[in-house]
Amino acid sequence: MTAQPKRNSTTEWQAQDRHHIHPFSDNAQLHEIGSRVITKAEGTHLWDSEGNRLLDAFAGLWCVNVGYGRKSIADVAYKQLQELPYYNTFFKTTHPPVAELSKLLVDMTPKQFNNVFYGQSGSDANDTIVRMVRSYWNLKKQPKKKTIISRTNGYHGSTMVAASLGGMNYMHELADLPLPGFVHIRQPYWYGEGGSSTPEEFGKLCAKALEDKILELGAENVAAFIGEPIQGAGGVIIPPMTYWPAIQEICKKYDLLLIADEVICGFGRTGHWFGSEYFGIESDFMTMAKGITSGYMPLSAIMVSDRVADVLNSGIDFSHGYTYSGHPVSCAVAIENIRILREEKLVERVHDETGPYLTKRLWELLDHPLVGEVRNVGLMGGIELVKDKNNRKTFQPVGDTGTICRDHCFRLGLVMRATRDTMLISPSLTWTKGDIDDFMKLTQEALDLTAKDVG
Ligand code: PLP
Repeated sequence: MTAQPKRNSTTEWQAQDRHHIHPFSDNAQLHEIGSRVITKAEGTHLWDSEGNRLLDAFAGLWCVNVGYGRKSIADVAYKQLQELPYYNTFFKTTHPPVAELSKLLVDMTPKQFNNVFYGQSGSDANDTIVRMVRSYWNLKKQPKKKTIISRTNGYHGSTMVAASLGGMNYMHELADLPLPGFVHIRQPYWYGEGGSSTPEEFGKLCAKALEDKILELGAENVAAFIGEPIQGAGGVIIPPMTYWPAIQEICKKYDLLLIADEVICGFGRTGHWFGSEYFGIESDFMTMAKGITSGYMPLSAIMVSDRVADVLNSGIDFSHGYTYSGHPVSCAVAIENIRILREEKLVERVHDETGPYLTKRLWELLDHPLVGEVRNVGLMGGIELVKDKNNRKTFQPVGDTGTICRDHCFRLGLVMRATRDTMLISPSLTWTKGDIDDFMKLTQEALDLTAKDVG
């Protein structure tokens, strides 16, 4: 009998991991307490190195849309690794997976999109879009049109440009951001900032902030507006339905390009293939990543409208690209991932069945003393915890209660992330009503324990 390879223990892995700088973590504190080591995943569950089983209500990081443990994806990746593990797409070269995926994406996205560029993350995709936007206005002989407007508390990634597009103060503070040419307007966060206005009024008011900013800067200096159809990392901020139509009108009126960042909303999360469909957004660019491969391989894709591509392709070299643009294994995995989403009708399931069921069950939480608001579109949701729900009064300092609740969730066997004091839900689209029931039971328990702690 062959000997089993020796497996490390949790403490050994934690000791080795001390050399690892973790993203979005207090690394000094982490060295003290040691990382949680995740060793296995199957379906909608994770296992840690101590053998604890966890229900993953966050699909990894908003991305494992088809669930864990898909053998057909592993098979496709293995086959591609044997046939053509790598080749680049520079200098007029292509390969079958990237060609096939390009046609597939064009066929499944809105009609203005007949062009696609590839990267490996949502951040680099947004960087690329900024280069395309600048190049577009330069070629149109309007080189002053440079500034890009985005929203406070929006999230577009972590590179210098993507974090400048984003509106997270704590990310700006890390490296003297935003870079020049990136400005922010208020977010359409009705529960937190809407006061006594109706959601409809508030949506229009927040869109008006775009027009005010354009007039302040001069339309001749403004290149584009970027937004997530629903802000994800910012706390699942779902804009009122009046918001996006008004934003689009303003972009048209002042000749701005419109960028829809679909990194989270894309590939079925909202019960539509793209968040843009849900809100009727007609954009010039769509940023896509995460759900495009369900996180099985890194890949991002940018859909570019004909209006923009016709200018960019007008006889100059597009001097931009990454070694891994259109990586063959990532593209092959994306094709298989999309096949699964389609064949198992997962987007339809979220739209018709699990999305509405999650709404119904979340509403029950409004009876809980800590829960001020629940919100979701499809399987993208938030549970906002407040100190005084009658007056929408937040806890001080903001964020501690969310962290307490998140830690209780972990101890109970549930992975749920918190942004400030909003608990975020973004499970695999394979979740059944039974999974939602399990989730609700654990959430209720975690909320009760949190209420005891903060009461
Ligand atoms: N855009 C949005 C809307 C995101 O939520 C994220 C990541 O969470 C990004 C961009 C950045 O993607 P990545 O982490 O792949 O760089």
